[in-house]
Amino acid sequence: MATVDGATLMARSLKAQGADYMFGIVGYPVGGIAAAAQKEGITYIGMRNEQAASYAAQAAGYLTGRTQVCLVVSGPGVIHALAGLANAEQNCWPMLLIGGASPTYQNGMGAFQEERQLERAAPYCKVSRAIEDAKRIPYLVEQVIRTSLNGRPGPVYLDFPDDIISQEVEESDVPASVVVEDPPRPQVDPATVEKALDALESAENPLVILGKGMAWSRAEDEVREFIERTQLPFLNSPMGKGVMPDDHPLSVGAARSTALRESDLVFLMGARFNWIMHFGLPPRFKEGVRVVQLDIEQEEIGHNVPTEVALVGDGKAVVGQLNQALGQRQWFYPAETSWRTTLKEKADANVATVEAMRQDESSPMNYYRAYRDIVEWLPDDAIIIGEGASTMDIGRTQMPNRQPRHRLDAGTYGTMGIGLGFAVAAAVTNPGKPIVSVQGDSAFGFSGMEVETMVRYNLPVKLVVLNNGGIGGGVGPLEKGARVPPSVLTYGAHYEGMVEALGGKGFYVEDPADLRGALEEAMAFDGPAMVNIPISIGAGRKPQQFGWMTT
Ligand code: ADP
Ligand code: MG
Repeated sequence: MATVDGATLMARSLKAQGADYMFGIVGYPVGGIAAAAQKEGITYIGMRNEQAASYAAQAAGYLTGRTQVCLVVSGPGVIHALAGLANAEQNCWPMLLIGGASPTYQNGMGAFQEERQLERAAPYCKVSRAIEDAKRIPYLVEQVIRTSLNGRPGPVYLDFPDDIISQEVEESDVPASVVVEDPPRPQVDPATVEKALDALESAENPLVILGKGMAWSRAEDEVREFIERTQLPFLNSPMGKGVMPDDHPLSVGAARSTALRESDLVFLMGARFNWIMHFGLPPRFKEGVRVVQLDIEQEEIGHNVPTEVALVGDGKAVVGQLNQALGQRQWFYPAETSWRTTLKEKADANVATVEAMRQDESSPMNYYRAYRDIVEWLPDDAIIIGEGASTMDIGRTQMPNRQPRHRLDAGTYGTMGIGLGFAVAAAVTNPGKPIVSVQGDSAFGFSGMEVETMVRYNLPVKLVVLNNGGIGGGVGPLEKGARVPPSVLTYGAHYEGMVEALGGKGFYVEDPADLRGALEEAMAFDGPAMVNIPISIGAGRKPQQFGWMTT
C-alpha cells in the first residue's frame, strides 16, 4: 500500500485546481510544502516579506483568472500576510493563504509561534478553515478555492498544522475531489436587459464606467462591441483601464471630472460607487443621477445611490445579452450632441493645461516631463504597475492602457507597498512581457528588498522611481541636526544603487535630456533595472477643481 504525506497531498490538490503559482517564505513548519509544490510542477517564488508575497499571490490570481497561493509560516508569518488578505478582499480578487501552524497536540500550550490563526484570518476572508486530517486536504482545497473564485471573488485561508503537514496516510484512503470549474456566468432576465437599454436611450448625457469587475470577467470583447454599437462615451476606472483602450475615440478619460459631474445617467459596469468614484454623490456627480448597474454581487446594488436598473450577473454574459438585444433595436447615441461637444472641449482643455509642464526641460524634472518620456518609451503590451501619491495619480492620466488586465495599482484599499509584489507576480505569470512599475520613493521603500527576489529569478522588471524625497511631497535636503518632518524621506536617495548592489542595473537621471536613453538601456538590460528620477520639490498635479478626496 502506498502512503502519501500532507505536504504532497496539498501540492497535488493545488495543482489539480489550477493553482500554478505559489509565493511565500519558508521556515518552520512549511518548508516541505514548498518543496512538494515544486515537485508537483507548481512555480514556487520565495519572497522576502510575507506582505509582498500575499500581494503577489492576489495579483497572480487576478491576472490568471484562477486562485493562486501564498504560503507562510505560523504566527508572525500569518500576521504579516493579513495585509494581503485585506487588500484582496477590498479588490474582490481571489487568493488562498496557507498558514503553517503549530502542531495540534500543542494547542493552547504556548507553542513556538502559536497563534489563533483561524480567528485572525477570518475577518478578512470569505472562509477560513483548519485542516485536521491529511485525508481531507483535497476536499478542503477544492471547497475554499470554489469559494474564492465564485460570485464576487475574494481571499480564503487554510490553517495547516505541523503534524498534519507530515502526516502519512494511505493513498487509497484519500477521497478524490472534483476540479473546480471556471465560475459560471449568470445571465439576467431579458426584460431587465430591455429596461437597461430603455434607460440608456432616454438619457441625455449618458456615461459608461468600466471597472475591474469587467477586467476580471474577461468581458473586453463584449464591452467593445457594446461601446462601438451604442457609441456611448465611457470612462475606465483606475484598474479597469484597458478593458477599452484609453485612447479609443469614445473614451472621455481626459474629461473625467466633467463627465462624472454632468452625466444624467451612469451605467456602472463592474465598478463601485466607493471613494474612488466619489460615492456617486454631489458635488462630484449630478444630484439625482440615474444609475444602471451591472455587478455579480447583489449586495452592491444601490450602494450610496439608488439603482434604477440592476443587472445582477456576470459581466461578460450580461454585456453579451445587451449586445444581442441591441441587434433588435437600431439605437445608438447620436454623433452630434452637446454632451459630446462639452466632453471634447473639456478633454482638449485638460490636455492643453499640462502641455507646458510636459515641455519643461528644467532639472530636476516635474512629473509631467518625466511621464512624457516614460509614455513614449512604454511598449504597447506592457503590464504597468503604479503606486505612490502624485506618481500614481498623474500616472493614471498620463500612461495609457490598450489591453485589459495590464494595469495594477494601489486599488480599492489604496495600499502603498503593493508595487514590487505585484510586479513579481506580473513577471512570473507573463514571461516575455514587458513589466514596468512606476512608483514614488515612499512606495518603493515598503518592499524594496523584493528587488533581490527579481534578481534571483531573473525577472526583467523595469522599475521607475519618481523620487520627490517624501511621502506625498518632500522638502529637499535638510540641515544636519534639523528636526525631520514626518513626511520627509532622504532627498536624492540612490535607490538605483541598491538595485546594482543586488545584481540588477541602475540609473540616476537628473537631466531630462538623459531620461529617454536611460529608459532604453534599462529596457535592454536582461534583468531587473531601475531608473531613479529626482523630481523637483513642490512639483504636483495640474490645478484640480476638487481637492484630493473631495466627495
Ligand atoms: P473599480 O475599482 O475598477 O471601480 P471595483 O473593485 O470597485 O472596481 O468593483 C468591481 C466590481 O466588480 C465589484 O463590485 C465586484 O462585485 C464586481 N464583479 C466581480 N466579478 C464580476 C463579474 N464576473 N461580473 C460582473 N461584476 C463582477
Ligand atoms: Mg515621494
